Amino acid sequence: MSEAFQGQWEQRWHPLRREWVVYSAHRNTRPWSGAAAAAPESSPAYDPKCYLCPGNARARGETNPAYEGVYIFDNDFPVVGPEAPHVEAVPPGADPALYKRGRADGIARVVCYDPRHNVHLGGLSTSSVTALFAAWREQMIEFHKNPSIRFVLIFENRGEIVGVSNPHPHCQIYATNFVFSLVETELAAARDFRSDHNRNLFEGILETELRSGERIVAQNETACAFIPFFARYAYETLIFPRRRHATLATMEDDELFGLAQAFQEVIRRYDGLYNQPFPYVMSILQAPVDGGDYSDYHLHLMLQPPLRRPGLQKFPAGPEIGGGNFMADTMPEDKALEMRQVVLGSHPE
Ligand SMILES: [Zn+2]
Repeated sequence: MSEAFQGQWEQRWHPLRREWVVYSAHRNTRPWSGAAAAAPESSPAYDPKCYLCPGNARARGETNPAYEGVYIFDNDFPVVGPEAPHVEAVPPGADPALYKRGRADGIARVVCYDPRHNVHLGGLSTSSVTALFAAWREQMIEFHKNPSIRFVLIFENRGEIVGVSNPHPHCQIYATNFVFSLVETELAAARDFRSDHNRNLFEGILETELRSGERIVAQNETACAFIPFFARYAYETLIFPRRRHATLATMEDDELFGLAQAFQEVIRRYDGLYNQPFPYVMSILQAPVDGGDYSDYHLHLMLQPPLRRPGLQKFPAGPEIGGGNFMADTMPEDKALEMRQVVLGSHPE
């Protein structure tokens, strides 16, 4: 009986999060028929009501310039910002060993990828996507010099399913006075892996994926994208520059180009899966910018699409929310093969 489920039902260790992921793909044998997904509603290239389109007024009175290419501005309603009120570190009457707080200081920015309201990343030229990566690199160089910033999270939410109502292509930057916990966890994992095995954790993962090859989704001279052995979401994809960089600030132009190219190929493969813009949460995971020694950290992009199939969303529930570990019902190898089989049309260079 159990042999029938070989490779379809097992636990895998997630070495970056240091937790188990349980795969039970044997429960999910019904194949998807491949029915055409509903065509997305097309939106105009310019929307007079969009707060991200060129020339439009924003909520707090500022007006966007007639920008071309990438446009970055400070978020009008920042999650972290210089206007955050001062607070006492220990709430009145609280046990200081337990309860502490701080000012929600920092910088929150919005990055528009393109002046056109209706373009998708997959439809932009590779040079435009490279210009976006170069703009992110400029931001990182600036934040490295800012002593009040410890960490920078660059992330994109794409699709209504992850709560985005404005289709104008954009992402956000949170520059904070604390390090986001996933990177804290990865740093601790890399430190322990170094002391236990005298090797770099990230390079170990990258080498293992390249050697196996069965989970690779896209690769070129300077970057590699794969659905990791330990993916939590069905189409979760990691993209690594081949050379180790702690943050984007130190990347060379040709490396940025390769990373942009791999990123864009992943997006185009996503979009080709069901012939519709594929929703995801993308984050660029980088080392802190507080001047510490993070030479063991290897920056990477992480894409976490919530869909398992068209119209079928992974809802974190009992095991995930209640217990903190993910249960997956698809195998990374099968999903990587599916992504490699997407036929890509031509697109602007
Ligand atoms: Zn717009």
